[in-house]
Amino acid sequence: MTIRLYNTMTRQKDILAPINPERVTLYVCGPTVYGRAHIGNFRPAVVFDVLQRLLRHSYGAGNVVYARNITDIDDKIMDQARAEGVAIDVITRRFEDFYLADAAALGVMAPDLAPHATTSIPAMIAMIAALIAKGHAYAEGDHVLFDVPSHAGYGALSRRPLDEMIAGARVEVAPYKRGPMDFVLWKPSSPEQAGWDSPWGRGRPGWHIECSAMIAEALGTTIDIHGGGIDLSFPHHENECAQSACAHDGAPLANIWMHNGFLNMGGADKMSKSLGNVVNVPDLLAQGWHGEVLRLALLSAHYRQPLEWTDEVLRQTRNVLNRWYRTAGDGAWDESADISAFVEALSDDLNTPAAIAVMGGYAKDRNRDALLKAGNLLGLLGTASADWFQGEDQAPAAAGLGLREIDALVAARIAARAAKDFAESDRIRDALAAHGIIVEDRPGGTSWRRG
Ligand code: AMP
Ligand code: ZN
Repeated sequence: MTIRLYNTMTRQKDILAPINPERVTLYVCGPTVYGRAHIGNFRPAVVFDVLQRLLRHSYGAGNVVYARNITDIDDKIMDQARAEGVAIDVITRRFEDFYLADAAALGVMAPDLAPHATTSIPAMIAMIAALIAKGHAYAEGDHVLFDVPSHAGYGALSRRPLDEMIAGARVEVAPYKRGPMDFVLWKPSSPEQAGWDSPWGRGRPGWHIECSAMIAEALGTTIDIHGGGIDLSFPHHENECAQSACAHDGAPLANIWMHNGFLNMGGADKMSKSLGNVVNVPDLLAQGWHGEVLRLALLSAHYRQPLEWTDEVLRQTRNVLNRWYRTAGDGAWDESADISAFVEALSDDLNTPAAIAVMGGYAKDRNRDALLKAGNLLGLLGTASADWFQGEDQAPAAAGLGLREIDALVAARIAARAAKDFAESDRIRDALAAHGIIVEDRPGGTSWRRG
């Protein structure tokens, strides 16, 4: 089936035509691990997880390479490490573990590749050296900068006039900059700061060059799809585009650029740490919302549209899942079930609201096999037990532990396992077992049932 995706570069839905259909390449900018991610940060994680599942369905499970990086060197990380008086890897390991635990609770599969900035420094240094050699970057003192006017194609992705770009990039005037739009590729580190030796002295990379170098190293010169949140389109992705094209003699970094819209909370404001209107995954699990409810809620709006995060959305989503579980139960399904209408909806620029409506039709028709098969493609109807949802719907909180308490304990155990605190995870499992709750770890995630 033809897959069409809205391409920020061309401003239209383009037909996906992989360079090599046996190796479809997808890269998504991952988290900067300096603090706990909020549910809005997981919108791209869930959206692009659905995309990679669709690609595997269409091109074959083994014919897709999905990379999502970890930015583990950054000034915010260094600030946090200084505040706690610890090395940066204490901070980055902690918050990467939290990120992966929260992603797992949302049914997000591990990407094929998870390049870390700190282990790709040689590739970054090599790319910076190539940009200098080709006349697209310059060293000024102990900084290296990208020379924006040297690249005629700059601005193609964001299509903004220069003055707006200057305002949008919140450019600082600095003595080492020749042009206002020029951006840092390498900057110096003081002796007590994290740093690596380079031809320009001991220092660390700028954020944008990290992705360009990791993409080239992990996936190749031109990839099929590059994704991230809409806030990354400028300046981050514009700069990635410029660096990679200039380092690779004009070859484009990506053929399709995809950007998800914002998750908002409390009116028109996007969820963001600096505004303070955030809620994170463990909070939501502790409030009694199952990970599958959170996942389906994130998919309830089209990924390019804003999504207002409210309890009402979560309640409606839980009702939808309850209906599906009542039809589907859990367990195996007949692989020959026809889900072409569902796949067609997803293939139209990942139209999850339309795909969810198709699943509603399967539930109405009691088409259990199609419902389970489609749910599996969406990463749903597998990790929870049908028992949980029906129980919650009829609200007969069992004697002993309530559903919310059980879910909070299961979430705490997932976090303990991710942090490799096996004593704690065993303690929680035993505490649940004492209440007759059996926890099961499966490749797709953790579920529980009453014994
Ligand atoms: P960060 O760790 O801040 O770089 O963000 C990680 C990812 O989450 C990026 O792709 C952002 O664009 C995305 N993101 C941040 N806030 C939101 C939000 N409120 N809604 C949707 N995506 C977001
Ligand atoms: Zn990036």
